[in-house]
Amino acid sequence: MYFKMGKKLAIVLLVIVVIICIVGVFVIITDGSEWSDDEIEMMVEEMEEEELSVEEPTEAIQDEFITALNPERNYLMVVNGWHPYEFGGEYDMLLKNDLIYVADCYGAPTLVEKAAYLAFSMMKAELWNEHGINISLYSAYRTYDDQAWVYENYGEEGKNEVAEPLFSEHHTGLLIDFRVWQHGAEWHKETLADQLNDCFYEAIRGKLSKYGFIERYPLGKEDITGISCQPSEIRFVGSSEIAQEIMDNDWCLEEYRMMHG
Ligand SMILES: [Zn+2]
Repeated sequence: MYFKMGKKLAIVLLVIVVIICIVGVFVIITDGSEWSDDEIEMMVEEMEEEELSVEEPTEAIQDEFITALNPERNYLMVVNGWHPYEFGGEYDMLLKNDLIYVADCYGAPTLVEKAAYLAFSMMKAELWNEHGINISLYSAYRTYDDQAWVYENYGEEGKNEVAEPLFSEHHTGLLIDFRVWQHGAEWHKETLADQLNDCFYEAIRGKLSKYGFIERYPLGKEDITGISCQPSEIRFVGSSEIAQEIMDNDWCLEEYRMMHG
């Protein structure tokens, strides 16, 4: 009798211990992987706040931009297949003090002229805040060797897209190739026509002049620029008025220089 009672008690205790263990393991597994709706909402809000605080243009950026504009710099310098860049020249010496390292769209350090970058940052913020369009800097300043590498690797297939070293405006630090990102991936448009008709690119074009940018290689100007149309290559010209004049007249940079000397 005593043994029978003891055995029953032991079985009951064992069952209780097993149940406690199972419940314990279940709690451990589910805890942390399942959030309540409130918690998810809070996390999303935190992420959005973080993103906005990075993207929103502040007065500090605008002030920095105004001081970064260098009155000695020739923001209208043309470099193309007929006008090589002069390394060691006056512009080049001046540029060295105003090149800054920034992160490109893959997070790698890249150089760009400071005022051009700040203008790009303000435009990026406005595009994000107004249209939810995320543009990132893909490529800006390139040394002779950088351009030689790009030319060797891409020049053969895209002869009219990539300039030879010395003849690339990337040497000025004022030419920016951007990429559009959507949901963490590149907003890839297969053909030039797709790019030109894309609503994102249209919104971007609409913001360029306000921040002193022009399309550097517009459609229909290939004979003058020597480079095929590329909507993602924009050029900082140092002034929103000049950028507006160029776009209003449907000029490329070379034509502006022809008209104004
Ligand atoms: Zn480029």
